[in-house]
Amino acid sequence: MEDTTENNRLAEKIRPVLGTKSATIRVMKAFDLRAGKRLGQNFLIDPAVVATTVEAANVQAGDKVLEIGPGIGTLSQGLLEKGAYVTAVEMDKKLPAVLQETLDGYENFRLVAGDVLKTDIAALMGGEPFKVAANLPYYITTPILLKLLTSKLPITVIVLMVQKEVAERMTAAAGTKAYGSLSVVVQYFAEPQTVCVVPPTAFFPSPKVESAVVRLKILPQKSVRVSDETLFFRIVRAAFGQRRKTLINALKGGGFAADDIVAALDRASVDGTRRGETLTLDEFGDLSEAFLNKGHGDAF
Ligand code: SAM
Repeated sequence: MEDTTENNRLAEKIRPVLGTKSATIRVMKAFDLRAGKRLGQNFLIDPAVVATTVEAANVQAGDKVLEIGPGIGTLSQGLLEKGAYVTAVEMDKKLPAVLQETLDGYENFRLVAGDVLKTDIAALMGGEPFKVAANLPYYITTPILLKLLTSKLPITVIVLMVQKEVAERMTAAAGTKAYGSLSVVVQYFAEPQTVCVVPPTAFFPSPKVESAVVRLKILPQKSVRVSDETLFFRIVRAAFGQRRKTLINALKGGGFAADDIVAALDRASVDGTRRGETLTLDEFGDLSEAFLNKGHGDAF
């Protein structure tokens, strides 16, 4: 008599790994899929990159993970194999039917159809801490990242595949070419680290640019003390809005009154003839507090 239990175990063991070129092409052919440029579809075809991404998030059995853009389920499979509970948001209407097949048998997978930018993530993930992992659609990297970082949700770590150049901006130090408002915002909320650089050949179809896996460890407490985040981000945007101008002129261009700027710069001991791109995160924080007339040492 056939031992079905044994057969089931065998099927589990030989479950095809999705993250190879042949498996990806097979799935795409079977479902008549064409990778859509509009949706930033470049599917991972390198199992080592999938493994590195999963490891970067230190995914453990029982972890709750939000995945953005599961595609045909390649990264999802890596996360599920570690025993994570994966909630994935996918916008492409053709993919739910594909995922139902490619991730058949993984009970911890939940698919939510829709645009992640319009999704109520708080309602989706509940109140418990969770991780985020994604091979992002590059055309909306920044809005997705800002949505996650400013969400005030209990996210512990965000691991993302992004364009290499964007990873450089996230991790850049003050005064360097890549340093900009994205660096300040990311480093205000998190400790970013580039895990690895990924060549175009790791994807099908291959993108034109190099990519990188970045890990953002969310800080339990923000890296600088800021009383008014809206003001802080407005100052940062203004300072980088006109990079070639002095800080004083850039802030004027950002709609701040000349008198307030001079007083705040003085209170924060920041030289207004410097360029915004030379200011450290601490200095942006001091400046923001100084605009509120709350220089160092003031009780608030
Ligand atoms: N995770 C898969 C992988 O690694 O092979 C696919 C990654 S592919 C770069 C990006 C995925 O995001 C695609 O499946 C695309 O359909 C999906 N996507 C694009 N825009 C989206 C959006 N606004 N909301 C949710 N998913 C989106």
